Amino acid sequence: MNLAPILDEKQAAANMAEIEPKYTQQEAHIEAQRCLYCFDAPCIKACPTGIDIPAFIKKIATDNLIGSSRVIFEANPLGASCARVCPVSVLCEGACVMLDRDQKPIKIGRLQRYATDHTLIDNDIPVLFAPEKKNGKKVATIGGGPASLGCAAELAQLGYEVTVYEKSKEAGGLNTYGIAYYKMTPETSIKEVDQIRRLGVKIQTGVEVGKDVSIADLDKNFDAIFIGCGLGRMAKLNVPGEDLKGVYDALDFIEEIHTQPLHTVPVGRRVAVIGCGNTAIDAVTEAKRLGATNAVILYRRGEEHMPAIPYEYGLAKADGCEFQFYTAATEIIGENGRVKAVKIAKTKINDKGRVELIPGSERVEEFDMVLLALGQEPYVKELKSFFPGLEMDKDGNIVRDFATGRTNLPRVYAGGDGANGGREVVNAVAEGKRAARGMHDDFFGEKVVGPVQATRYGMEGSPPSPVGSGFDWPVRAPELEKEYYKTHPRKERSTRRVPIN
Ligand code: SF4
Repeated sequence: MNLAPILDEKQAAANMAEIEPKYTQQEAHIEAQRCLYCFDAPCIKACPTGIDIPAFIKKIATDNLIGSSRVIFEANPLGASCARVCPVSVLCEGACVMLDRDQKPIKIGRLQRYATDHTLIDNDIPVLFAPEKKNGKKVATIGGGPASLGCAAELAQLGYEVTVYEKSKEAGGLNTYGIAYYKMTPETSIKEVDQIRRLGVKIQTGVEVGKDVSIADLDKNFDAIFIGCGLGRMAKLNVPGEDLKGVYDALDFIEEIHTQPLHTVPVGRRVAVIGCGNTAIDAVTEAKRLGATNAVILYRRGEEHMPAIPYEYGLAKADGCEFQFYTAATEIIGENGRVKAVKIAKTKINDKGRVELIPGSERVEEFDMVLLALGQEPYVKELKSFFPGLEMDKDGNIVRDFATGRTNLPRVYAGGDGANGGREVVNAVAEGKRAARGMHDDFFGEKVVGPVQATRYGMEGSPPSPVGSGFDWPVRAPELEKEYYKTHPRKERSTRRVPIN
């Protein structure tokens, strides 16, 4: 592979440093005091885990950081990760009333980080507790990602004995291995996992369900099973040359960055990333920050169709990444078994809304590395063999009751990406929590109250918000945000510290 110029350790670390540095006490106070502490706050309703945002912000303003952190973690046991990776601009911050006053929304994500870092990262102060006396029920979770951790933390606090089975070396799922390094380092995720472990949850890593432990064993030894396995491999492009050396799953590339010294990760000089979701943006930006001369997104549709959120897109552009819209890779060309170029055709959207190649528009562009970011595929085959009769929809998502996580099989619950098709970390945590409460209701007939959204506010097909004011804030969040940025253009700045090329 024609490698990008090698960065030294310091350069790589500087380029991959977290883009949103932690607030100082003074900055946090100033921002916290801008909050109006709204009654019936729309920001709470826009948060899938229902964190009491004005309450935790108020506690920051009075320097009660342990109390603030407790409000956050009790609602969302992955509150420190979510402070860094949540698309806040289309969730809580997008719903902030400040936008309707033509003012910047409160920086909820950064305040949340400020409070949670105080207990979790900087001082190791426990804020979550489980009862000593257990309730006699045991639950196993398949997978150790955000949904399973959300479920496990909730169950542990309700007195259950929980065992999490995770096939990787560390639990945390995408939070540990799959988020761009400059947004969050694995340390935050691992500390959150430890916080959940301290609730008494057994987290068995390096154990694959179906291989190291059978479903029959889980069925025999546990009262309920939660399927939180997430999604599997990246979808294939299905073009010639996909098996050449130098073609990688974008998530494998991101994982490599998380598991080896940054300056030793091989990066091509010219990198093509195929797809335009948030994983594609993470991959292209990381390639650029690790020294790629050209890091290019190839996307079959237009800018207006891309699934990536505008903030991430702006950041990638500011870093010097290139976007080629209405282009499709039709072949990956190799030389001596390695990627040398990509054949690219122009595309258009036809009357039926489908992508069509424009005949005669093909050209060849040289690349040394191709990263596929086309969306992950569900574990249909595995789930069918583990759970005969488990209901799945036409896309391979597990069918479950949204409010309780119940599947069509008794004692089997599900949530997270494997059920919702792939949404945000915070959605997965909320689904894990709801499933835990569904189980508790089924075992003991007790409804657990407390933060988490019971319905799909802000999601497609959602019922109107019960705010009662006539305003449907959370559902309007993305529109409010768009309106604001029409008159206040975004100015994302590159945080690459070391100019590489
Ligand atoms: Fe504070 Fe904005 Fe939430 Fe109101 S909507 S409580 S101003 S963060």
